[in-house]
Amino acid sequence: MRELFKTLMWPNLWAKRWEETHPRCGLMSCSGPRSLWRHIWRYQRGIRLQGVFYCRPQCLETALLAQLARIQALAPVLLPPNRMPLGLLMVVRGWLTYEQVVAALAAQQSARSGRIGDWFEKLGFATEQQVTSALGLQWGCPVASSLDSDATRPVDRIPLGILEALQMLPLHFVPATKTLYIAFGERVDYAALYAIEQILDCRTQPCVAGRKSVAAELNRMRQQPRPREVEFGPMHDCAEIGRISASYIFRLGTDDARLGRVGHFIWLRLRVRATYTNLLFRLWVEPQSVQNVLSPPLP
Ligand SMILES: [Zn+2]
Repeated sequence: MRELFKTLMWPNLWAKRWEETHPRCGLMSCSGPRSLWRHIWRYQRGIRLQGVFYCRPQCLETALLAQLARIQALAPVLLPPNRMPLGLLMVVRGWLTYEQVVAALAAQQSARSGRIGDWFEKLGFATEQQVTSALGLQWGCPVASSLDSDATRPVDRIPLGILEALQMLPLHFVPATKTLYIAFGERVDYAALYAIEQILDCRTQPCVAGRKSVAAELNRMRQQPRPREVEFGPMHDCAEIGRISASYIFRLGTDDARLGRVGHFIWLRLRVRATYTNLLFRLWVEPQSVQNVLSPPLP
């Protein structure tokens, strides 16, 4: 009886195996080969975009353009308000006096630039270490004890343009848990962390580090060659971004492509066998919009 049951299950198992090795095209309007035998005969390996299989270049391009239009239309994520103003937090901790905070705020408003933490340092009221510790408390994150990255792979995973825009630095990657530890020098951007998780298929853990140390490390990285990383922009034409993306995807023989929006960038990550190529499209935005999103008035 058990053998008979197994025999009856064969078609289902065969169909499951067939689905695994010959996935359906993810494009609803796909006009690719429908007949089984034509499919077997004409089957090609296809490309995955965001984990979805597309059988032909035309199907992939259609899906790619739809994804790009959706991502480009996303409004930049406004950074959430801080949990407690930095100055107040430092007064509570006894690191600053109320008068020093008032003086730093006045200097910031007069100059109409700089973060309040910078002004605490400039005016000699606090050290960078104290400001960094306060940022850690403000964002509920640990403070990185060292910026000496012990894993170069994560550094290569995120395009430098994004790292510089968000003043962040990948520190350490734990393969066992697929966790990437990222240090922020100014403020923790959780929306960016979420996008990075989707594209790199990993978890992220934020921490904070000294602003000057992060900036210096990024500047050092800028001096080093970054092969397989190409930046375009500023751009606003979605069709143009799609054309460039498709050109790279097909020319490199891409197996898997993932894309997402991080700040004012569209990041496209292409896997070709065991190597990765990163395309970074800097989106054109109104200067006023950049000011509001990246540098909101800080307490
Ligand atoms: Zn198709």
